[in-house]
Amino acid sequence: MHANLIAGEWITADAATRNINPSDTGDVVGEYSVGTKGDVDAAVAVARASFPKWSTASIQLRHDSLKRIGDELQARQVELGELLAREEGKTKAEGIGEAARAAQVFHFFAGECVRIKGDKIASIREGVEIDVTREPLGVVGIITPWNFPIAIPAWKIAPALAYGNTVVFKPAELAPGCAHALADIIARSGIPDGVFNLVMGSGSTVGQAMLDHEEIDGISFTGSVTTGRRVAQACMQGARLKKLQLELGGKSPLVVLDDADLDIAVNCAINGAFFQTGQRCTASTRLIVTEGIYDRFLSEMKRKMASLVIGHALDSKTTIGPVASEDQLQKDLEYLRIGQGEGAVLAAGGNVLQRETPGFYFEPTLFSEVSNTMRIAQEEIFGPIAALIRVKDYDQALETANASVFGLSSGICTTSLKYSSHYRRHSAAGMVMVNLPTAGVDYHVPFGGRKASSYGPREQGSNAMEFYTTVKTAYVLPL
Ligand code: ADP
Repeated sequence: MHANLIAGEWITADAATRNINPSDTGDVVGEYSVGTKGDVDAAVAVARASFPKWSTASIQLRHDSLKRIGDELQARQVELGELLAREEGKTKAEGIGEAARAAQVFHFFAGECVRIKGDKIASIREGVEIDVTREPLGVVGIITPWNFPIAIPAWKIAPALAYGNTVVFKPAELAPGCAHALADIIARSGIPDGVFNLVMGSGSTVGQAMLDHEEIDGISFTGSVTTGRRVAQACMQGARLKKLQLELGGKSPLVVLDDADLDIAVNCAINGAFFQTGQRCTASTRLIVTEGIYDRFLSEMKRKMASLVIGHALDSKTTIGPVASEDQLQKDLEYLRIGQGEGAVLAAGGNVLQRETPGFYFEPTLFSEVSNTMRIAQEEIFGPIAALIRVKDYDQALETANASVFGLSSGICTTSLKYSSHYRRHSAAGMVMVNLPTAGVDYHVPFGGRKASSYGPREQGSNAMEFYTTVKTAYVLPL
């Protein structure tokens, strides 16, 4: 059984969870320890005890450790990518890409270790000096979802360690394999025992114990809006108000204007809505198309969707892997019924598919004639289901795009500088893409959204420092 990592020791729990391959439910990827509240207590205690030394450790040591982690991730990207595809169901190519991304993230933050800066500022008082510096936040709790089981842990753990924090990490129960592999790499990187701890297990036990723990200074969470709200409330309950970073859902719009390059627009939509089986918070789930191009766009979408190959994630011909779990498949099917009940037209897909191995195979699905107020246009489904919405013109497209409780990513396909510039400025989202899919981002720039999509400082790039450090203002009168 795969064990938890606490104080540098691999500790096997009494209970285990079976990690099932969604492309072949007969294939058990492995058994993984299910941690307890006691494990969280032990992990937090050692993370707290390790903090004074790690937070003042040489930045060269921190750099070298993170660099080694990045090097190993890079060297093993194919093996880890295959593990990822096997446990989560994204295609092998997508899995390898994600493992490679995790390597890039660690390399980036290795560099950030030696770029920590402060400010020296003049005082209004004669002879007084002021400096504003950044110090590590403390013990950080990291809670992650199953949809990017190595990249999201990487983009939280790497900055946490780079800026001198100690970590208790709880991955999603559904896909603990990559998290465990990452923990193993971190454990051998030269980072002292106890600085980084892995406690696998359920959200309600392990996750909740982290939220309730008085010795955790901050929680970085990615997951659903419902759980995110609970996380936020719990973080405000204790004596120590925990610093908070939430990355939640999305219902990202992709606007397509009459003057768009049709090929580019359709490719953006197919990629954004269906790649990674639509299980991305940045997925283009609302396709908002002006009426002059609507019919051509719809027929081209149907043609391209027919060429997608839905199959076993590890088969190199597959372009769309299975849905990650039975629960998620049931949720997708429930929204299929909701969409039909709301009067949307099922334009393509919608079928559960049988393949050689038993798995959660579901055809990418397109609803047309959707109204933006329908549930399928407002609620996050997290599956390969897109809603095509007809609008009159650019103004109506912008208004529709912004009419959502979410505001993570947003896109427009147009050849007009006027409209793309206006959209870039007025889209109520944290990230805007012009002639590019709404999903798929770089690792060295801020990631995050507005409204119900995100809360707290941005992740990734140098902006990650905002969450993982705390500012100190020092006043000195030199005598
Ligand atoms: P998803 O649909 O992506 O699984 P969740 O929000 O349910 O979204 O889960 C995201 C992460 O939050 C997972 O690691 C899960 O175990 C954890 N989680 C779920 N419930 C809680 C909770 N009450 N407290 C802390 N973490 C939780």
